[in-house]
Amino acid sequence: MPVFKVAVLEGDGIGPEIIGSALRVLQKVGELAKVDFSFEKALIGGSAIDQKGTPLPQETIELCLSADAVLLGAVGGPKWDDLPTEKRPEKGLLGIRKALDLYANLRPAKVYEPLISSSPLKDEVVRGTDFIVIRELTGDVYYGEPRGIFVEEGRRVGINTMRYTEDEIRRVVRKSFEIAMRRKKKLTSVDKSNVLEVSGLWRSVVEEEAKNYPDVELEHLYVDNCAMQIVRRPSSFDVIVTGNIFGDILSDEAAVITGSLGMLPSASLGDRYALYEPVHGSAPDIAGKGIANPIATILSAGMMLRHSLGLTREADLLERAVEEVLKEGYRTPDIYSAGSTKVNTEGMTSAIIRKLEELWQG
Ligand code: NAD
Repeated sequence: MPVFKVAVLEGDGIGPEIIGSALRVLQKVGELAKVDFSFEKALIGGSAIDQKGTPLPQETIELCLSADAVLLGAVGGPKWDDLPTEKRPEKGLLGIRKALDLYANLRPAKVYEPLISSSPLKDEVVRGTDFIVIRELTGDVYYGEPRGIFVEEGRRVGINTMRYTEDEIRRVVRKSFEIAMRRKKKLTSVDKSNVLEVSGLWRSVVEEEAKNYPDVELEHLYVDNCAMQIVRRPSSFDVIVTGNIFGDILSDEAAVITGSLGMLPSASLGDRYALYEPVHGSAPDIAGKGIANPIATILSAGMMLRHSLGLTREADLLERAVEEVLKEGYRTPDIYSAGSTKVNTEGMTSAIIRKLEELWQG
């Protein structure tokens, strides 16, 4: 029986609760698919600061480097808000992404029919939306040198540098084509090549790579136009790939049109390692109450099955189980509306597990 080693970083706030749900679901996937998961936990974020004096202990990095994939809850909370930036829980997140050399951030934006009214867009505009934003994570204006605030001729000047090497562009573009091949075979590359040389290079690398993926329909959009099209015709997208700063903005725009933060999973991929986590934070306002929505974390575990462990059928069934449970009217308080069945974290998790078993038996 294949054994997959998963590094589990619960983090803070609702982290342990939602990770507990995802592990129960994975355990069931293991039973059904006859694979074994070995879950090994380590500290990150505020709980690591409390117990080890640092948001990212060395043993956490070592565990993640030895695992097939990493599943993370969320970090942070008011208890650690007054610490200097260098020592805050969020440093643990940035540190682990860097240690694992993760360069592609995937954020699916899927609108579930039963929750369509939570979208700020009209039903007829948003219906059927199911796309994924792939954001480059390691380059761009966030890391380029020179950077800083300098004094020139007696006045201050702020400088950041937009910079990409062709290799950095190529690896994320290739991954995006590969992901598009496994979906609806449509890729939208987003840049600002009418103004920026960096974007000119981005576009030409995309064109070069497109020759290796003739089955994928390729479209180029300027970032300002893409921002408009995401609210005008969201259901026409399949995979969107873009650089770090454009992706930062577009992935939040994509998230908001789905309407529910507690539903959004994410993956950060490199060539060797991968980390899966919900988009939302540690929700300290509801931590410990047992009412957090576990779906974003369960779907993140689903992305892990698909992208790291090669368990495609299992990932498909898990996504369907979530969809069916929503259709049957189960809702945690954050997505509750009159007439549906209110459940807590445990209730939602059990409903998804039951549905998964049912779908598995066909
Ligand atoms: P948040 O995402 O934690 O919460 C925003 C709101 O959404 C809250 O009202 C919360 O109760 C609700 N919410 C979030 N996830 C939910 C879920 N699964 N089920 C039900 N309701 C949910 O964002 P915030 O309040 O701005 O930040 C809280 C802490 O989380 C801060 O310390 C912040 O730095 C940290 N944070 C961490 C991450 C991460 O670990 N990736 C991301 C964002 C924020």
